[in-house]
Amino acid sequence: MSFAEILGQEPAIKFLKNSLKRGKVAHAYLFYGIEGIGKEKTARALAQALNCLSPQGVEACGECRSCLKMESGTHPDFVVIKPSGAFIRIEQIRSLKRQLIYKPLEGRYRIAIITNADLLNKESANCLLKTLEEPPDTSIIILMATDINELLPTIVSRCQAVLFRPLSPAVISEYLCSYGDNKFPPEQAALLASLSGGSLSRAIRLADSPLMEMRRDVCIQLISLSRQDMENLLLLAENLAGRKEELPEVLAMLKTCLRDLLFLRQGLDERYIINKDLREMLFEGTRRWTEKQLIHSLDLLYSAEQAITRNYNRQLILENLFLQLAH
Ligand SMILES: [Zn+2]
Repeated sequence: MSFAEILGQEPAIKFLKNSLKRGKVAHAYLFYGIEGIGKEKTARALAQALNCLSPQGVEACGECRSCLKMESGTHPDFVVIKPSGAFIRIEQIRSLKRQLIYKPLEGRYRIAIITNADLLNKESANCLLKTLEEPPDTSIIILMATDINELLPTIVSRCQAVLFRPLSPAVISEYLCSYGDNKFPPEQAALLASLSGGSLSRAIRLADSPLMEMRRDVCIQLISLSRQDMENLLLLAENLAGRKEELPEVLAMLKTCLRDLLFLRQGLDERYIINKDLREMLFEGTRRWTEKQLIHSLDLLYSAEQAITRNYNRQLILENLFLQLAH
């Protein structure tokens, strides 16, 4: 993995390359930002560059013994820690600490990547903190997190934090059209990119998911939701309540639909629409919905999302939501 292969994270990559150039590498990094935007790839590229036997400037060569072992996960000085179950457990951090004490076997550094550092439980976070406070000279730890607020502030303050921004729709769309296993037609790529919230992995996941069809159906129903049609309204609530797994995603998509309507009502250019395939329905919808109704509806959706995460009765929440949204 090289820095050149990472899409759309120029400021983060520039910062890391500069640190390498100046020989000012931190003992601990914290890469943070939403999932699916290149944090782990960047961590691997950095690890590879640090231990490469014949680096090309600050890039790893990709061909030396060290690079090949890093790629195949067999380098004795490189470890990737992922959650075991719901958390990263203390045994995993204890074992990491034991490894980091020793001098590297083959490389310049012993390097550890901890993915999902926001899933460190209390004990494992405290255990890691001790290593971050007194890092061995030859160790580098790269933490990755989607939500920096879930980490102990004392951990955050011991790391060099590097922000990874959501990818632009153009970057995601270009990737979906040109690379990867499936090459998507431009229109589908643009739709997936705008629904992805800036996460490439989410865009790819959505492509294969029945959610895309559900989004279409539910958005169309939402746009024309009418109190005259109580039967349909209750049926929609019942159907969605039965889709526990997909429900948070569907509600998030409904928000994008209301957002699109609001943007169109405010006269914004249609290229800013997320649900591009529903363009005509949306234009028609702007005749039924006022700005005030749309803003109020977005508030209602946020409240419904929160009530659902608190495990209140899904069907009741949804019935109540749709009754209030309909007009
Ligand atoms: Zn190399």
